[in-house]
Amino acid sequence: MVNAWIDDVAEENVDAQIAADKKAAKKIERESHKLEKRLCRNVGQAIVDYNMIEAGDKVMVCLSGGKDSFTMLDLLIKMQQRAPVHFDLIAVNLDQKQPGFPEHILPDYLKKIGIPFHIENQDTYSIVKRVIPEGKTMCSLCSRLRRGILYRVAEELGATKIALGHHRDDMLQTFMLNMFHGGRLKGMPAKLVSDTGKHVVIRPMAYVNEKDIVRWSTQQQHPIIPCSLCGSQENLQRVQVGNMLREWQAKYPGRIENMFSALQHVVPSHLMDHRHHNFKAIQATGVADPDGDKAFDADEFPSASPTSIPEIQVVRL
Ligand code: SF4
Repeated sequence: MVNAWIDDVAEENVDAQIAADKKAAKKIERESHKLEKRLCRNVGQAIVDYNMIEAGDKVMVCLSGGKDSFTMLDLLIKMQQRAPVHFDLIAVNLDQKQPGFPEHILPDYLKKIGIPFHIENQDTYSIVKRVIPEGKTMCSLCSRLRRGILYRVAEELGATKIALGHHRDDMLQTFMLNMFHGGRLKGMPAKLVSDTGKHVVIRPMAYVNEKDIVRWSTQQQHPIIPCSLCGSQENLQRVQVGNMLREWQAKYPGRIENMFSALQHVVPSHLMDHRHHNFKAIQATGVADPDGDKAFDADEFPSASPTSIPEIQVVRL
């Protein structure tokens, strides 16, 4: 009798667990569907806003083996399937011969998903090691060499666009770094002609936030290749700015979105670059203009809603 009672309870527990598991699985499925929709919407919108991809384009998708480039490839494949125009994709990886680089991972993956690809083998690692003194950062020479090689490969493959996996947070970081260390209001554009003048470089994930990329890449179980193989330190200033932006966002939700929006709403007359606004020629027009100077009235902003209430916000760089 006692056993029957225990069995009943055990059965009920199992049933409850199954129901909870089903509910959790449904929730994960719903979230994953929402994530995919959001990512596709963001990428589609950026492609349209900047006319990134046109009919007949051959897009060279630069694949490093990191979460960003894997995600970009997935999203461009999805775009290709639903785009109103035909375009081709070719994934390209530059194997820089860093020690321990797992050569088989990307070819195996790309064969599995059935995407045309090209692996370019160039030992830039040895060049960088030979030229840069021990302990100095290797990234600037390394990326210069990589850029040159990728441009050449794009030409050889007949690619009309070069797609890079930078996302919204990379763009904001670059903007802040240029301001803090370069004294310029300059970001990372969604679309630009290369410095050689020969290629159009696009960043289809310009509107995508990094958190979504992390979620997507984890969900898809991308075979990530660690980016520390070269032994070079991550750019410390970029890391600091990234942390600063994340701290701001945690304290003031929406700040990153506002900053990104600011990059798309530039008002040259309210900055101080005479090359972009002819301040010397300014004359009173006699016509009211809401965007004109309001003299002593300070601009009004919606009140900040910090999650904590700091009296003074100290930002350590
Ligand atoms: S981290 Fe390594 S591979 Fe990346 S740019 Fe720097 S030196 Fe090159």
